[in-house]
Amino acid sequence: MAVYEAAVQTLIDELGRLPGVGPKSAQRIAYYLLRSAPEDANRLALAITDAKARITWCRRCYNFAEGELCAYCRDERRDPSLLCVVEEPRDIVAIERTHEFRGRYHVLQGAISPMEGIGPDQLRIKELLRRIGEEGVSEVIVATNPNTEGEATALYLTRQLKPLGLRVTRPASGLPVGGDLEYADEITLGRAFEGRRDVDA
Ligand SMILES: [Zn+2]
Repeated sequence: MAVYEAAVQTLIDELGRLPGVGPKSAQRIAYYLLRSAPEDANRLALAITDAKARITWCRRCYNFAEGELCAYCRDERRDPSLLCVVEEPRDIVAIERTHEFRGRYHVLQGAISPMEGIGPDQLRIKELLRRIGEEGVSEVIVATNPNTEGEATALYLTRQLKPLGLRVTRPASGLPVGGDLEYADEITLGRAFEGRRDVDA
């Protein structure tokens, strides 16, 4: 005999596929939703389908965007000569909280990871190189995560970018090594941006 009704099992299975949600949490969330008022559960379901329908990739920087361009690419006040390269859209949120950066972004949508079979071709690197020619970029800040994959990606990018005659920088050390950018507090991340250093290929 099955422990759960089929529909409950499906809900628990789907919730359990979310990042950071283990089987116990999946069960707790499922039971919470089943107990909640129909309009509350429906609001969550609608928020998911609505966001999925409206949000795509920004055609310039590959951040999330509602429409063709994301909010940062639409903002004419941002300095187009400064380009900050990050792994994921969530890294932009972390950097914006520091108020230290007024340039534009480029989201790689991952990092080089031979273990997971992710090479440069799976990332938005071709698109990055094309932008540099088109947008008059003079400095690229490579703000990949301070872990093995992030460092490998930074090294690869530096080798691609340096021959183009650009200034290539990395945020200063002081970020928690092995971690993600988003785990750094605002002050530490802000200082790391301020004290960014030139990197050599
Ligand atoms: Zn954008």
